[in-house]
Amino acid sequence: MRTFLVTVKNVFGRILLKKARSVLMACMLIGTLVANFSLVSAGESSVQGEAKALVRNFGDSTNHWGYGYDSLLRDIEVWRKSPFVNVDSIGVSVEGRTLWMISISAPGDSLGGPGDMGRKHRVFLHVRTHPSEVQVGYVAREAIRFLTDSTSAAAATLRAGYLFNFVPMYNPDGVMLGHSRLNAHLVDLEGNWDKPVMEPEPQYLRATFQRFMGGPIPIDVALNLHSDTVNCSRFFFYHVAAGTSEAYTVLEKSFIAKTQAYFPDSIRSWNFLPPQWTTGPQARYPEGFWWLNYHESVMALTYEDSNCPDARAFDSTGRALVLGATDYIRSRWLASIQPSAPKKSRLVLAREGIRIDPVADVDGTGLWELRDVRGRVISTGAIGPAGLFIPWSAVPNTSPVLLIVREGRSGHMNYWIPATPR
Ligand SMILES: [Zn+2]
Repeated sequence: MRTFLVTVKNVFGRILLKKARSVLMACMLIGTLVANFSLVSAGESSVQGEAKALVRNFGDSTNHWGYGYDSLLRDIEVWRKSPFVNVDSIGVSVEGRTLWMISISAPGDSLGGPGDMGRKHRVFLHVRTHPSEVQVGYVAREAIRFLTDSTSAAAATLRAGYLFNFVPMYNPDGVMLGHSRLNAHLVDLEGNWDKPVMEPEPQYLRATFQRFMGGPIPIDVALNLHSDTVNCSRFFFYHVAAGTSEAYTVLEKSFIAKTQAYFPDSIRSWNFLPPQWTTGPQARYPEGFWWLNYHESVMALTYEDSNCPDARAFDSTGRALVLGATDYIRSRWLASIQPSAPKKSRLVLAREGIRIDPVADVDGTGLWELRDVRGRVISTGAIGPAGLFIPWSAVPNTSPVLLIVREGRSGHMNYWIPATPR
């Protein structure tokens, strides 16, 4: 099937989506389609692999890719028995199937410290947007198995400090209909986020994201799990600064490196794919929603597992994703100042406050702003030719803040100011 898929991909690689839809509908009418149509949308490299391609396919999985909705229901009955698991739903699919959410946590707090450092932190994973990418269903299952292990000290630590949400089957209709990538309306949910009227599944997922972001335990890390038929590897979609910010790229690299550290020689580095989002953020994807609404406060990435015959080690992968995510959160909250672009002005953390000494070519029209960890502006002002001084009394000390310095045409620098005692 994979050889065939690749061949068809090459043949159809340049066909526009609109045309593909009419081809698809024609095939539906004659009722003989047992094929994959893979279309790489304009402006995106085919090297990106499956995740952002638009593949049309249905009718070729009578066993629901080996793990159907009934399999999920059986697993849920097992997970439900764990004292650390809460079974809930975020909504229902087009055909009325429950969009299950598995939450794992325990009372307590492993992070310590004041303010945000002393609260729970949330990691959210949604899985199997594309039904044929069954591998990540297994990755999620293994991550849940790891986190619910009552004999593991590591799992106990994670449950104490963090809250994990899994939506293990985000597109159950597609799974049961045997679609490779589409929901019951024949829509690819992955690229549906910028539509005026979104499909029910992303509407429910977005509402869940918004509800959590407005609550006492906002999401710190949001992972979107897929698997890939082209690269046959494990990697993340890393978004460059043109579509995010310099500060975000630092955080992305940190996240990927921390995850990679738990599965070295297997999970690839941040620069595995060609540059992504070179023309700006892509609102049609979940990560676009995250960036455009929450900026640096949420690490949102698509992860791709291998969707090739060599796919395996789902336990190692699941473990690496949750341990990497929690290491990232911990390190971010404890991070000291980290310039995310080459220094131009000089920034000094003095006893009395933060001082910025501008470089000679700054014309005195520079601006600064302080943001909290959720990206909200706390205060802002002009730098002026003499520089800037922000007293510590003007900086909240219960959580880290982001200081953004804008200097004319030279762009901006971002600094994370720690919450820990100065
Ligand atoms: Zn996918």
